[in-house]
Amino acid sequence: MNSFEQIKSTIPEGVTLVAVSKTKPNEAILDVYNQGQRVFGENKVQELVDKYEALPKDIEWHLIGHLQTNKVKYIAPFVALIHAVDSLKLLQEINKQGLKNNRIIPCLFQFHIADEETKFGFDQQEIDILLKSEAFAELKNIQINGVMGMATFTDNQQQIESEFQSLKLIFDELKSNFFSDSQSFQTISMGMSGDYQLAIKSGSNMVRIGSAIFGGR
Ligand SMILES: *Cc1c(COP(=O)(O)O)cnc(C)c1O
Repeated sequence: MNSFEQIKSTIPEGVTLVAVSKTKPNEAILDVYNQGQRVFGENKVQELVDKYEALPKDIEWHLIGHLQTNKVKYIAPFVALIHAVDSLKLLQEINKQGLKNNRIIPCLFQFHIADEETKFGFDQQEIDILLKSEAFAELKNIQINGVMGMATFTDNQQQIESEFQSLKLIFDELKSNFFSDSQSFQTISMGMSGDYQLAIKSGSNMVRIGSAIFGGR
């Protein structure tokens, strides 16, 4: 088995594998594509656009990295899921570009679950305020599909697990408080090469795996 097959065989049904292809050449992506993978993730807008243009059009492209407001327009025509929405301002811009492109753009709210100050994301109080706001209610060209988070970069498995569990709790609370009628609010995007099995155990249903498939960067 090659590394893609190996990883793929460990992902249970019902968990979406996002193959994180950042910094990897198109040939490497095509190799995994030819083994049946269709969902790929990138963390930089320019690289995502270049790869979208060069590669087969049935690839579902996810932007998994931090997104600046002024770059939304470049990916709005085709992006399948934006993982790291972390402000109302960004959501409003995604909505505006969705409208321009006559589409509804699927998004995840990124939450700050790690004990590192450098990671982006909402906390629970901020999301409550946002979801109750009129400004949010006006957004018709975005769709909230769920939540995303990144655990602390540490060897402490217990800490990672408890951070993943906290994101699962946030998801459950948002689902019952704000999205109980939503068909689309279903996704918990957590887990990378080093911690995806722990993430799945904690309730993840979307894992973002790069180096374990494509090798180190
Ligand atoms: C790079 C990246 C990943 C994948 O990381 P690996 O450790 O290579 O699996 C997942 N999520 C985000 C947001 C990333 O930037």
